[in-house]
Amino acid sequence: MNVIIFGPPGAGKGTQSSFLVEKKKMFQLSTGDLLRNELKSKSKLSEKLKKIMDSGKLVSDDIINSLIEKKISDSSIKSSIIFDGFPRNIEQAKSLDTMLKKYEQKISVVINLVVDNSILVKRISGRISCSVCKKPFNEFFDPPGDPAECTTAACIDRELIKRSDDNENTVSNRLRTYEESTLPLLEYYKLKGVVKNVDAMKSINEVTSQINCIFNDL
Ligand SMILES: [Zn+2]
Repeated sequence: MNVIIFGPPGAGKGTQSSFLVEKKKMFQLSTGDLLRNELKSKSKLSEKLKKIMDSGKLVSDDIINSLIEKKISDSSIKSSIIFDGFPRNIEQAKSLDTMLKKYEQKISVVINLVVDNSILVKRISGRISCSVCKKPFNEFFDPPGDPAECTTAACIDRELIKRSDDNENTVSNRLRTYEESTLPLLEYYKLKGVVKNVDAMKSINEVTSQINCIFNDL
């Protein structure tokens, strides 16, 4: 079945998608990957794409749709696609429906990872990592502890690094943008009766098992 996974930054979308890829042998379709792969492919379209991207313009919905149609029409991954980061708006959702219908497929479920904003802010703004071994920590949920307990002996000299865009202000902005763009989409899919909410404030394993239950019930 085809799945759309929704979730704000920090909700664990990547982690749960890779679980679906590994355990359910699904294909993760992200528009970023599609564009990067096309650029590498030396196709006619790749030259056009390179020009658009070099000029700093946005890639049109038409181009994105044609790349997505290529995947939807690929029989080796038929009805086992996880859409990640697409659709982003109602227009794209409608085109997606049309394309899926053309190849006798549909969206079976939209998995909506739900997390309180206050927790997301801490999850993202609390991210730090070891400068030596790159091990990730979280100031609030998984504090780094003694350097001697990090991964390598050289970690004794570690610094704890924080990404500059992981501060509270930018995180709140990113969350607001996400909500504004996603809410109408959720409504669109709710009307089709395919949205399943998942409590993504639980542990990774518990979230995975909630998703498993949803799959088993379909
Ligand atoms: Zn380390």
